[in-house]
Amino acid sequence: MSDTWIDGNVLAGPLGELVSFEVTTALARCDECARVSVLAETHVYADGPGFVVRCPGCDIVLLRLVQDTAGGRSWLDLRGISYLQVRLDT
Ligand SMILES: [Zn+2]
Repeated sequence: MSDTWIDGNVLAGPLGELVSFEVTTALARCDECARVSVLAETHVYADGPGFVVRCPGCDIVLLRLVQDTAGGRSWLDLRGISYLQVRLDT
């Protein structure tokens, strides 16, 4: 893992393709330290085969996203998040 991270705004495109709400404004509760963070404030490592998103409080992995654009598939692993809270515009 590299020491260089970028903020969660980089997830707007790839995660936005999977969900119809503005994902970077969603609140995510860390399963390890219980910190609730706006997804845009998380630490994203994008130098691997996909994106690894870490908690800004305890550095545990919150989610992983891998895209196979040639095959038209994506894998989303949310096991580090207790819940994801989204605001629905009505
Ligand atoms: Zn945490």
